[in-house]
Amino acid sequence: MTTATVDLINPATEELVGTVQLTSAEGTDAAVARAHAAFPSWRDVAPGDRARLLRRFADLVDRDIEPLAELEVRNSGHTVGNARWEAGNVRDVLEYYAAAPERLFGRQIPVPGGVNLTFKEPLGVVGVIAPWNFPMPIAGWGFAPALAAGNTVLLKPAELTPLTALRLGELAREAGIPEDVFQVLPGKGTVVGQRFVEHPLVRKVVFTGSTEVGRTVLAGCAAQVKPATLELGGKSANIVFADADLATAAATAPDGAFDNAGQDCCARSRILVQRTVFDRFLELLEPAVTGFRVQDPTLSSAQMGPLISAAHREKVASYLPEGAPVAFRGSTPEGAGWWFPPTVLLPSSPTDRAVVEEIFGPVLVVLPFEDEADAVRLANDSDYGLSGSIWTQNLGRALRVARAVQSGNLSVNSHSSVRYWTPFGGYKQSGLGRELGPDALDAFTEVKNVFIAH
Ligand code: NDP
Repeated sequence: MTTATVDLINPATEELVGTVQLTSAEGTDAAVARAHAAFPSWRDVAPGDRARLLRRFADLVDRDIEPLAELEVRNSGHTVGNARWEAGNVRDVLEYYAAAPERLFGRQIPVPGGVNLTFKEPLGVVGVIAPWNFPMPIAGWGFAPALAAGNTVLLKPAELTPLTALRLGELAREAGIPEDVFQVLPGKGTVVGQRFVEHPLVRKVVFTGSTEVGRTVLAGCAAQVKPATLELGGKSANIVFADADLATAAATAPDGAFDNAGQDCCARSRILVQRTVFDRFLELLEPAVTGFRVQDPTLSSAQMGPLISAAHREKVASYLPEGAPVAFRGSTPEGAGWWFPPTVLLPSSPTDRAVVEEIFGPVLVVLPFEDEADAVRLANDSDYGLSGSIWTQNLGRALRVARAVQSGNLSVNSHSSVRYWTPFGGYKQSGLGRELGPDALDAFTEVKNVFIAH
């Protein structure tokens, strides 16, 4: 049931990593039918047993952190340090939601004339469409809570980065999760992903990727009134006030923008700096950027690896036309690999393309602001609203600005976005719904209300 194959290339060496068969539309439909048939028995697995299976799955991921990380380094060019964290995140998210089956509480609501109960019931088959930028964690944020809530899951990894997802599917089977309960279907978005959207037996779609494709997924789901969780693009602001610890703000700004080579929907790629400290901040930022270690990603010292593909490097480079306002840049290794140096731009206008659009590469812009109101106005001057940072030593200001910025995930004096204990998702065109945290189960269950007359 496969149509074609895809060659996977190591982004750091341009060497062939492997060849994977792509699932066809017919193959997808057959997988949906199997997942649908497996649903009643998975739903009826006793909560404690379902929890045990998920914990066993987490244990196997933990056992295989190193080989999973190595696979991701080869397939995606992630630094080995990041890849270890990503595999560990899958383990943590599985463990976190392994606690859910036994705690999927309903409510007893006081009503006249009887007893009223609510139940949280699984939806059926859930389709998870993952992107190439964080193949392991983003898949896990979908499949772990979905399985915990009693749904069967189909996971479509990005065509470019299917290897760790396929391995996670094998580990799930080794843990004892039935084959048809969790299936990994490598393939094209326009084929496999599209069938998730169109197929009436897929009752929920979880999509992470570009805002453009997210819009078509949402429109397709609307035709069947099918719920969708969307995690889309970002152009997040890192707001640095004059009273901040400037040295720390500047030293950590590259981590906030260039982690995963900037291929991160949470990248703080717009730095807004209060005008009175603008020059001083740039002086401090320059050594942090030029010293950012872009290296062979297998080295534990590497802070950044290559971009995912030649085509993506071309797209990122298009934001630096002749005469682009480059302030300073880092360096990259010579030779094979889709490298791109960390780059800082000083645009003359907040309407420049590099200021407005998600570049999804190691390019950040720095803009000045006058006062608190101006900072909030500039931060919110975007179609996106995924994350952001606020640097100040004034707690009142930190809270005021955090409440005023229209964004789903803000951090004060740090660049933290994704913590599996807390909800993650975007405002505006950055998405719809929330993943992770205690409420993620709500996205994978229907609430049923039952009234029993006295
Ligand atoms: P896409 O949005 O095209 O891909 C994301 C996922 O959706 C992939 O698994 C893809 O499959 C799948 N997909 C593609 N088309 C459809 C469709 N019609 N129906 C259902 N699923 C589909 O992102 P790209 O990889 O093309 O990246 C383009 C840009 O998107 C990036 O430069 C970046 O700006 C942004 N992006 C944002 C991400 C985020 O985390 N917010 C993640 C990835 C990208 P396949 O790859 O096999 O085609």
